[in-house]
Amino acid sequence: MQNHRKNPRLLGALGKNFPRTHALAAGAASFALALTLFISPPDVEAKRTALEVSLSLPEEVTVAPAPAAPQSSAPQSVMEGLRIVQETVRNGDTLSDLFQRAGLSNAEMYQLLSSGKEAKQLAKLVPGEEVTFQIDGNGSLQSLELHRDRLSKVEFSRDSSDEYKYALHQREAERYAAFRQGEIENSLFVDGSKAGLSNNLIMEMADIFGSDIDFALDIRKGDSFSVVFDEEFLDGEKIGNGAIQAVTFTNQGKTFSAVRYTDSNGDTNYYTPEGKSMRKAFIRTPVDIGRISSHFNPRRLHPIFKTHRPHNGTDYAAPTGTPVYSAGDGKVIQSGYSKANGNYVFVQHGERYVTRYLHLNKRSVKQGQRVKQRQVIGTVGSTGYATGPHLHYEFLVDGHHRNPATIVRQLPKAKAIASAEMARFQAQTQPLMAQLERYEQPALAKNEDSENKDKKDSVN
Ligand SMILES: [Zn+2]
Repeated sequence: MQNHRKNPRLLGALGKNFPRTHALAAGAASFALALTLFISPPDVEAKRTALEVSLSLPEEVTVAPAPAAPQSSAPQSVMEGLRIVQETVRNGDTLSDLFQRAGLSNAEMYQLLSSGKEAKQLAKLVPGEEVTFQIDGNGSLQSLELHRDRLSKVEFSRDSSDEYKYALHQREAERYAAFRQGEIENSLFVDGSKAGLSNNLIMEMADIFGSDIDFALDIRKGDSFSVVFDEEFLDGEKIGNGAIQAVTFTNQGKTFSAVRYTDSNGDTNYYTPEGKSMRKAFIRTPVDIGRISSHFNPRRLHPIFKTHRPHNGTDYAAPTGTPVYSAGDGKVIQSGYSKANGNYVFVQHGERYVTRYLHLNKRSVKQGQRVKQRQVIGTVGSTGYATGPHLHYEFLVDGHHRNPATIVRQLPKAKAIASAEMARFQAQTQPLMAQLERYEQPALAKNEDSENKDKKDSVN
């Protein structure tokens, strides 16, 4: 964030953030102002302490009869100023806790909570959220603002007829395209973050190509990637990343590309530049790639049988407890335990395909149950004949074991862009691919000493 670049177009090529220089966040400014308005004359402090003492009774104690009339008993004229109290929701906080810390009575809270259905959302507070109270000199709540996040704020303010008015304020983040590219030296995560991608973006990229590339087993040194994604800014400050818009990954010399597209029904998916869906009937890796620790060597001598046993699957070493996903939509045909397999789950997908998951620590599906792609069916373990925690994964076509690494690529993709939608698809996505290619130019030019002269044309 130190380098403020003025020209957004430079950003991509340079692979850097390009935060816009804004003087100061309007929101932050008004918040600072609000804090300086905090008035706490000694009398108010005294009164506040008194209230806190009376309210620190257990909540079951009905507050109705006892101290319910602080307004009438309090001197009306002494305090005219508004007190602004900012509270951050802590772990385990209820609205009542916040009201207590702000020095407000439970009666005030119940009045707000009974003001309408919108007030119900105040019952669901998330740690880290900010609540701003405006309290008048009589200890009466004038307004409450709940800052859900930096983009949305709900406000309850007391009007002249003593009713609470509700308002939802929402801001839009500004989005700018950002570009990152990198080459695999160590691992997807190490080199992805070296290139400036967040873990979420790396996972998203792995997800997009999840049917084409096994990011646990297929990644090689020299593989490369480039990504165009949105960065979100609020008041000149980066607040997060949006979705990946276009991405390419070159794995062992083969380049895969994907673009994000929202069709005319409003459904968003990733497609090849030709309009084929990136989502296939099966995912390549039934375990999150971030959890897979190493290649599991199935060729070593079986510790129990001391022989090379025929190996019909793929093994993924991962810590015990790592979630295991169903590779595709289907129906659980077996969920059980045997001496060799340990805890195992078999899933049938359509007529022809079965996937098997062995040595599970726990199973979380029952026989006969329908499962969705990526639904958790159990966790990695080392039950049965297993030398360490790993998932043994098998893929069967018409009853025969097939290598999931090669078979999945041959299976049909989920769905392609309808021909009626093709013109719209191309109009929206071609600029994205063009943007990606334009960004890639400087890097290519740099490498283009001699032998790579034709690289750009041959890569596809
Ligand atoms: Zn195995």
